[in-house]
Amino acid sequence: MKIICVGRNYAEHAKELGNAIPENPVLFLKPDTALLKSGEAFYHPDFSQDVHHEAELVLKIGKMGKRIQEKFALGYISEITLGIDFTARDIQAEQKKKGLPWEIAKAFDGSAPIGDFIPFAPETDYNFFLLKNGDTVQEGNPSMMLFNFAQLISYISGYFTLKTGDLIYTGTPAGVGPVKMGDVLEGFLNGKKVLHTEVK
Ligand code: ZN
Repeated sequence: MKIICVGRNYAEHAKELGNAIPENPVLFLKPDTALLKSGEAFYHPDFSQDVHHEAELVLKIGKMGKRIQEKFALGYISEITLGIDFTARDIQAEQKKKGLPWEIAKAFDGSAPIGDFIPFAPETDYNFFLLKNGDTVQEGNPSMMLFNFAQLISYISGYFTLKTGDLIYTGTPAGVGPVKMGDVLEGFLNGKKVLHTEVK
């Protein structure tokens, strides 16, 4: 399986990082070694002094498809949950400055905590929020996205064949911030806790 991530998919988050609003979805990938199941600890990497949480809705692909039309795209989603796209912001800033790829800042071990999945229902609204040590630090909803689920799947599948079990991290709303050892992150989707990880 592969993990496809979308960057800058919420206007307020693009703004907080000083990035322009993109014309097309910004894509990058993570390997399966980035995944961290809910309940597992996140070990803060020693190569970064500024790892940020990015809470994101995550879609699981239920059947293979390529060049999927928007009108059929939602039928390719089997399940949904909340995940975190951990980002070594200091490393990413250096890479961006040099015009180099982001992988070492984005795709390292444990950089993709993933919550417990629930079945996807196209007509459902998916509200989510992230607690850090009990305080709400991020909240979002698909209506705040620049590119919606169908547009993302259509665009992504024009470049990468989607296969059963692939995951799409759909971008983060405003409110990203650093984590440190001892922090507890809890993710909620439509009021239900689906994700828990402690930083060690
Ligand atoms: Zn992200």
